[in-house]
Formats: sequence, C-alpha cells, structure tokens
Amino acid sequence: MKLFTFCSSCGHKFGRSGSGTETETKCPKCGAEIAYTVDKETVIVKIIKPSEKK
Ligand SMILES: [Zn+2]
Repeated sequence: MKLFTFCSSCGHKFGRSGSGTETETKCPKCGAEIAYTVDKETVIVKIIKPSEKK
C-alpha cells in the first residue's frame, strides 16, 4: 500500500511512499523543509523549516 505524501505548507504533492518511509525533503514549490513518515495507513508530515516565500 502506498500513500500520497505532500507539503503541508502549500499542498504540493511529492509522490507516493510505502509504509515505513521516513524522508526529509525540500518542497520544490514553496521551499519549505518537510519531514514525512508513512506508518501503515497514516502519513505524518512535519514542517522542519517553513517556507520563506509569502
Ligand atoms: Zn510546499
């Protein structure tokens, strides 16, 4: 099972990730640094560094 992961700052979709995924990435759209974890059927998205764009 794969779930969509997305930027919680601007809603940009990163793609699909399987359960157990732990990734830190930078949103190509708004520049926020995002960490997301996929645990079974739940995606937890955390903003490490908010977007500098307004
Ligand atoms: Zn974004």
